[in-house]
Amino acid sequence: MTKNDCVLCHRPVNFSIGLIDLMLPVKINEPTCCDRCCRRFELINQKQACPDCGRKMKKRELCHDCVKWNSQSSLDFKNSACFVYNDEMKKFMQQYKFAGDYQLAKVFRAQFMKKIKKSKIDLIVPIPIDADTMVTRGFNQVVGLTTGQHLTSALEVRADIHKARQSSKNRRSRMETVQPFRLVNPELVANKRVLILDDVYTTGRTIRHAAALMYEAGASEVQGNTLAR
Ligand SMILES: [Zn+2]
Ligand SMILES: [Zn+2]
Repeated sequence: MTKNDCVLCHRPVNFSIGLIDLMLPVKINEPTCCDRCCRRFELINQKQACPDCGRKMKKRELCHDCVKWNSQSSLDFKNSACFVYNDEMKKFMQQYKFAGDYQLAKVFRAQFMKKIKKSKIDLIVPIPIDADTMVTRGFNQVVGLTTGQHLTSALEVRADIHKARQSSKNRRSRMETVQPFRLVNPELVANKRVLILDDVYTTGRTIRHAAALMYEAGASEVQGNTLAR
């Protein structure tokens, strides 16, 4: 692959008038994906997104998932997302995370960083991956999507998470509610405005577990930002 090949389809591309330049309001120094590939991803217009989770909507209103969340919990948490988690994004994530193709992170970095820079926060905390995944994948996919920002590794996956899930395996509804994280140092987040980063918001459970921990440790505000929703 040369510098002028699309990182997604590997076809040679003339990047001088790439759609990506028009699509992304930030200047990217290193264009990475051809028009054909870029078109397959769908940016979320924030004026037409759920204010709580960032899901694409017809107008700015709560989605049914968030209506349900709000009826179950009083957690003050809002997430925003860059892209729709469509089939192309699923394929991308598959290749990026499970095939361990780190190069792919370049495609969305600029867009992801632009959102992070707009947030009024004190700490940026990426969702961690467990030690086994780190060994097999070799990188944290969330960290891979960032560049030039100071990240605080305030969270880690509980070492006893498998055991904890095992012990509740016969109680299906409880299984998903096991807190998967612990704070490395709770003092880090006390009185801080925290932005949690994750790659994909699906049910919202993971990032909300992380947010709940931050609030327990005294964080003043917790928001989320994910690449896809
Ligand atoms: Zn391409
Ligand atoms: Zn929502």
